[in-house]
Amino acid sequence: MRDTSLIVDAGYAGSVVARELADADQRVLVIARRPHIAANAYDEYDDHGVLVHRYGPHIFHTNTDRGLIASHKAA
Ligand SMILES: Cc1cc2nc3c(=O)[nH]c(=O)nc-3n(C[C@H](O)[C@H](O)[C@H](O)COP(=O)(O)OP(=O)(O)OC[C@H]3O[C@@H](n4cnc5c(N)ncnc54)[C@H](O)[C@@H]3O)c2cc1C
Repeated sequence: MRDTSLIVDAGYAGSVVARELADADQRVLVIARRPHIAANAYDEYDDHGVLVHRYGPHIFHTNTDRGLIASHKAA
């Protein structure tokens, strides 16, 4: 039986740790007090299709030339 790791909130830190653990075949439970993922990096479209950065705009900085790789594999 595998242990389950508890991740408190899915900001940058929590998301990365959850992903790494899941990719290492660990069970992960993510909980959050906010009603959305991404913590301070969260944004959403309003009713007019305008992207709203609720906590301020974020630009993803990276030194990789692979860009972002979206993954929807269940944690
Ligand atoms: C206006 C603004 C603009 C920024 N722009 C950029 C940018 O362009 N590029 C960039 O790379 N970074 C940017 N940053 C910094 C970036 O937001 C942070 O570095 C990043 O969000 C930190 O991620 P984190 O997962 O460590 O923490 P957070 O994103 O702060 O997530 C932590 C989460 O844990 C929750 N939490 C804390 N304590 C508890 C508890 N006891 N119980 C339950 N939940 C708890 C908090 O509510 C929060 O949702 C910006 C920050 C701000 C404020």
